[in-house]
Amino acid sequence: MSLLKRLFGKSEPPKQRIRVCIECGMPLAEHKDWCSILRAQIEMKRTTPAPSAQTS
Ligand SMILES: [Zn+2]
Repeated sequence: MSLLKRLFGKSEPPKQRIRVCIECGMPLAEHKDWCSILRAQIEMKRTTPAPSAQTS
């Protein structure tokens, strides 16, 4: 009956720290439709001709 085993023994997969949008509170991959940050991103993609020279 070790406490450590209790804490670590549970078979919960180590959760990756997911970056969450500060606007809509969703993971960055799942913005809400109304999220202004998502809209800004969409705008960026639209307005950017996106040459392959762009590195990110
Ligand atoms: Zn968002």
